[in-house]
Amino acid sequence: MRLVRLIANLGYGSRREVQAMFREGRITDAAGEVLYADDQVAHDAIRIDGAPLDPPAGLTLMLHKPTGYTCSTKDRGALVYELLPPRFRLRAPLLATVGRLDRDTSGLLLMTDDGALLHRIVSPKSALGKVYVAELAQDLRGDEAAVFASGRLMLDSETTPLAPVAMETLGPRRARLVLTEGRYHQVRRMFASQGNHVSALHRERIGGLSLGDLPSGQWRALAGADLEALF
Ligand code: URA
Repeated sequence: MRLVRLIANLGYGSRREVQAMFREGRITDAAGEVLYADDQVAHDAIRIDGAPLDPPAGLTLMLHKPTGYTCSTKDRGALVYELLPPRFRLRAPLLATVGRLDRDTSGLLLMTDDGALLHRIVSPKSALGKVYVAELAQDLRGDEAAVFASGRLMLDSETTPLAPVAMETLGPRRARLVLTEGRYHQVRRMFASQGNHVSALHRERIGGLSLGDLPSGQWRALAGADLEALF
């Protein structure tokens, strides 16, 4: 029964469904030998339909989020979870998004079931740089970088000014920004405060971790080296 509970908790199905998977011979060891529910096997030796079992607690992945998906478990529209295998929405503990990207923002989104890691990434103490590229509806004026870097910009309905944001101009209507905070709709509101409008927004990087060549809509599990690059 230990294996049934373990596999069910990873979201592969209810306990009854996992028992059926055992009966159907879909659960094997690395050599393809069929396993039984009361076998004692190391986690990384288990295969389901030939694929390694997801890691236990401590799974962290990156998703190249396309626009049009929300970072929520319940919403009327499309959810980022729909881009992952269905079991990832059923895992206990839940695979949560590390902060959020707006529905209309694309790019690097981290998801983890490791609460301590999640807090470390979003904590202001870590001050991890989050790098965005914004496309703007109007030409830049030229003084935005100074305003954003000042540490004095106060957004509507906020009580503390924004921490300094570094901005690099990439074109008349295109800029790269490095944020160390994650306030609600921060980039869009920063440009709105300057009378401009963000027409497209993409997150390229968090800390030292970039999307690399991961195509839009695809995900990959992070390894130890990725987590080292992050901080
Ligand atoms: N800033 C925004 O305005 N939106 C995001 O999704 C992220 C940062």
